[in-house]
Amino acid sequence: MKPIAIVSLASLRAGAAAVTAATAAAQARESGTVARWSVEAILALYGLPFMDLMFRAQEVHRQHFNSNEVQLSTLLSIKTGGCAEDCGYCPQSAHFETGVEASKLMPLEEVVAAANAAKAQGATRFCMGAAWRSPKERDMERVSAMIREVKALGMETCVTLGMLNADQANGLKEAGLDYYNHNLDTAPEFYERIISTRTYQDRLDTLTHVRDAGIHVCCGGIVGLGESREQRAGLIAQLANLDPYPESVPINNLVQVDGTPLAGTAPIDPFEFVRTIAVARITMPQTMVRLSAGREAMHESMQALCFLAGANSVFYGDKLLTTANPQSQRDQALFARLGMRTSGQAA
Ligand code: SF4
Repeated sequence: MKPIAIVSLASLRAGAAAVTAATAAAQARESGTVARWSVEAILALYGLPFMDLMFRAQEVHRQHFNSNEVQLSTLLSIKTGGCAEDCGYCPQSAHFETGVEASKLMPLEEVVAAANAAKAQGATRFCMGAAWRSPKERDMERVSAMIREVKALGMETCVTLGMLNADQANGLKEAGLDYYNHNLDTAPEFYERIISTRTYQDRLDTLTHVRDAGIHVCCGGIVGLGESREQRAGLIAQLANLDPYPESVPINNLVQVDGTPLAGTAPIDPFEFVRTIAVARITMPQTMVRLSAGREAMHESMQALCFLAGANSVFYGDKLLTTANPQSQRDQALFARLGMRTSGQAA
């Protein structure tokens, strides 16, 4: 077990103290110890003047990444709707009337065709999502075949299939899986307001199985669920204190869908969303911070601010599971206007 460095917490105020905490955490990681981020330390980052927070996030980002590069992931829904879980934001839950039709698992050939198309458009990672509480054994065989075929195209593979046990995680690893996505969604103390059919600990257990199997972890959350800033900081603390923290952290802005319990929730202030990206970047310096759901509704200038705050990955393609996502051409035009290039693209 690695030693733990406690980032000074109780006495933290905004401003310089937040920077001190961030520096201490970075030093702890470089020295092989595990930095623990308290909610207070993260709140102090949130409380920085916006320009100072952007500057700090850029500093951290530039230490670890090319600040003009963005990674593209394409997400395909391989089994849509009819999910037994009751995640209050999700149109695929069978608990809500949202007009999303339940489908069966997509045939292998269609998945491979979609992966080929994504690759041709510049995506380097292909994510496959199935609306399950957890996969059954027959599903595992079919999904493993998909992983093998997509991998053979030279793309990174990611799946999100719900809860996994240790054997299932090991089976996916054997099939060649690179990443498993399983989000924590929100802070533990807000969680029960959003989901009742599985616990926070269930989610942490799946993440442990994934990590133990040697698969990279993709894990993030959603903001704009009606949570407080403290609860947003609580989510970031949970993510940053995973040991090690996830390799990919998707930050989603709630896409409100009629029929879900969260439709009609007051939207989050755009600058608060950008702050969340910056705080994720500072507390998890080497992770890929992914601008995920909600990008369709974001003005391009706000997306640019998110990149400035340290986002360096996006979901790419016309549909993000069941909701619209900016079209690839519009994305490429935005990257060109910003002088950004996509990872894997020639300089
Ligand atoms: S978020 Fe996933 S687990 Fe929750 S209802 Fe939607 S598909 Fe099911």
